[in-house]
Amino acid sequence: MPHYEVVIIGSGFAGLCMGARLKQAGIHDFLILEKDKEFGGTWRVNQYPGCACDVPSHLYSFSFLQNPEWTRKYAPQRELLAYTVKAAQDLGLMPHLRLDTALLSAEYDEAAGAWRLHTSRGEMIAKHLVTGMGALGRPKLPTLPGLESFQGKTFHSQQWDHGYDLQGKRVAVIGTGASAIQFVPEIAPKLAQLDLYQRTPPWILPRPDRAISKAERWLLRHFSISRWAYRALNYVRNEWRYIAFGKQPALMRATQKLALAYMHKHIRDPELRRKLTPDYTMGCKRILLVNDYYQTLTRSNVAVLGNGIREVRAHSVIDGDGQERAVDAIIFATGFDLEQALGPLELKGRGGLSLQQASRDGLDAYKGTTLPGFPNFYMIAGPNTGLGHNSMIYMIESGVNYILQAIQMTQLQRIKSLEVKADAAGEYNRQIQQKLKGTVWNSGCKSWYLNSRGKNLTLWPGFTFEYRRIMKKFDADQYHARFD
Ligand code: NAP
Repeated sequence: MPHYEVVIIGSGFAGLCMGARLKQAGIHDFLILEKDKEFGGTWRVNQYPGCACDVPSHLYSFSFLQNPEWTRKYAPQRELLAYTVKAAQDLGLMPHLRLDTALLSAEYDEAAGAWRLHTSRGEMIAKHLVTGMGALGRPKLPTLPGLESFQGKTFHSQQWDHGYDLQGKRVAVIGTGASAIQFVPEIAPKLAQLDLYQRTPPWILPRPDRAISKAERWLLRHFSISRWAYRALNYVRNEWRYIAFGKQPALMRATQKLALAYMHKHIRDPELRRKLTPDYTMGCKRILLVNDYYQTLTRSNVAVLGNGIREVRAHSVIDGDGQERAVDAIIFATGFDLEQALGPLELKGRGGLSLQQASRDGLDAYKGTTLPGFPNFYMIAGPNTGLGHNSMIYMIESGVNYILQAIQMTQLQRIKSLEVKADAAGEYNRQIQQKLKGTVWNSGCKSWYLNSRGKNLTLWPGFTFEYRRIMKKFDADQYHARFD
């Protein structure tokens, strides 16, 4: 049976970052498994019209592979995907990628000090198992009365059917989150009618996007100091916002005023303004950055419906007011199921402890990375490492740095297994939940940051440099080390 030092699950930014850092450290005995036929993570999977990153690209990219060629401040999906492909090539990761290979289950073999993996292409052994699967991989679909009887087209924003011609169609879009606000302006001009079902209005600010000029690109290409300086500028611009998100949510009031002024500038109809005005503190849900959404909502072929869906029929949707609205297609922009983020992964740790058992109240991971009962198992960007204010790539690099040190330590000291102590994980999570109490994310709105029991297992309650600091040095004293 093939045996690897490290097996990484997922080939997005997280998986590629782990692979790159392993190679830099001289560890070449690893695989990156990707369940799909192509690699690239979220920026390959999400291909809806208008898909782009709402974090500046010069920051939303690896620090060790900066890209001077971004054509816009906020790069479109195709550029992000191209960057990912080039990164895999330039960093020598292609021979390590195994596409169309899903991890089905894995169990920890205590005697061997390794994981036995069952993949869709056979079995393998990994001394260290690292997941880089991302939290936003499993689409969440609403349960709507009568949906099964609908005869038209349906798809989720993440599974966009580009073969379906939207020209002249009547379409219901459900959801007004980060994905919907990007594709609604793109598709509305093509449609005969767009019915936008909004459950909660988002807070919206203009996206300060712009083209990066040829001269700027030349500068960034030839002077690494300009790349670092621009990256640092973007980092600081985003990072200081944590003061409002995490420490003083009352500061959001000033930005709320700006957002309302922006909305009023584009929306004249008082009834539509009322519908689009959020009633929760800005930041509690993700703040959305977009320049053409409000304008689109004033089009004569667009209706914003705020009273929900009563029923779906074969060729129509009955809205919350009981009005029947004929539609050819329903597009779900209803987000992702975070509680199922690790999906159907059957992971059995020490003593047969399953991931499901260990995560009954959500995963109490240590530093979002390791779990008691799961030796030699690491998560990149796991629980409570998500951000509402800065670049996830920074968090990914921080986590990967920590995991790399753990792996190197097992090699150097001939350690059979490393497992985080349960009391270390427990105390860490107690502190995290305590810190979250004063943040805007726990200020009372319902969001995907909170699980079904209202616990925030998604976001990092701190400045990102604080996470980097705790991940800088692998703290072996918080781990049980077992030797042969
Ligand atoms: P989302 O932000 O979770 O938005 C889902 C939308 O669907 C919300 O408006 C939600 O309403 C609505 N919804 C969910 N279930 C519903 C139901 N049963 N009935 C009616 N409405 C329902 O999902 P997303 O837009 O796909 O974005 C997910 C995350 O992906 C983002 O927050 C962001 O982190 C990431 N993303 C990032 C970018 C980027 O530019 N970097 C772009 C797209 C996505 P409620 O608000 O009432 O729940």
